[in-house]
Amino acid sequence: MAEAAMAARAPPDEAEDECLRQYRHLFSPDLLAGQVAFITGGGSGIGFRIAEIFMRHGCRTVIASRNLERLSEASKKLVAATGQQCLPLSVDVRQPQTIVAAVDEALKEFKRIDILINGAAGNFLCPASALSFNAFKTVMDIDTIGTFNTSKVLFEKYFRDHGGVIVNITATLSYRGQALQVHAGAAKAAIDAMTRHLAVEWGPNNIRVNSLAPGPITGTEGFRRLGGKFAEDSSLFDTIPLQRPGNKTEIAHSSLYLASPLSSYVTGTTLVVDGGSWLTSANSFSALLGFWSAGANQPQ
Ligand code: NAP
Repeated sequence: MAEAAMAARAPPDEAEDECLRQYRHLFSPDLLAGQVAFITGGGSGIGFRIAEIFMRHGCRTVIASRNLERLSEASKKLVAATGQQCLPLSVDVRQPQTIVAAVDEALKEFKRIDILINGAAGNFLCPASALSFNAFKTVMDIDTIGTFNTSKVLFEKYFRDHGGVIVNITATLSYRGQALQVHAGAAKAAIDAMTRHLAVEWGPNNIRVNSLAPGPITGTEGFRRLGGKFAEDSSLFDTIPLQRPGNKTEIAHSSLYLASPLSSYVTGTTLVVDGGSWLTSANSFSALLGFWSAGANQPQ
């Protein structure tokens, strides 16, 4: 096949949680100048790349999750690559008091927060019959309740009076009832509903709320755990209309659009960033069950 046209070609990315070795701005480099983003899950995977791309567009960031050591390492890399400030803070999104403390600290440091990216999540493949009650609840707690907790704290501490933008990172899993994903599919579907509710209630406060639903994204924990390599090796990605998985830079670029004034009249919607994947990809219960039985992705 001829080389992909520019419009569908993947931008450069790095497999690990490292900053990009080269970056060419497609949007104006000062698109987020002077702004501050609070990014849960910003120390790894998709959240790390979102932090980097935002910082490359003039934004200062707070990256927040449970593992402060990893966050501190990530912050050093992000500052070195972009020259912007990045504050790593310990947060468990299931515990509102930890979010309150982190937001207070972020406001003390930066005096403002303009953007919230709800990226924290937990996931693994598991058939419903083997999923413990607690495993289902844990995913709901981190993904759905964690997204509500963080959004509510940001609303009360800053957005209610100053406006803001919320981007919830969700998934396409529930669109077709993806096998072995009842926990994450249900949790993310609830977040998409929350996106619409909060967009309606908080629109008058100049707050935009949108979801971004990635497809399979290389160089992530999600890709590793959810059978991405298995799909790649068995040519399953050939069924995706764009014939490939996505990368973290592509998710970060779409997040940048949703977080910036480029989308000033967009709220209450879900932007699917999956190369058309959910429309055509296989949803094979037996094949995924085989992968799961091999023990490649048990919950940690
Ligand atoms: P990841 O690197 O594992 O990101 C998940 C992040 O959530 C980690 O940084 C983790 O940090 C944080 N986290 C987990 N539990 C937390 C808690 N209780 N409190 C605060 N932070 C917590 O995986 P990823 O694949 O890049 O996923 C990022 C987002 O994209 C997730 O929302 C995921 O559902 C979504 N997504 C990914 C894909 C994909 O192909 N990768 C596809 C669709 C959607 P700590 O361990 O330090 O807490």
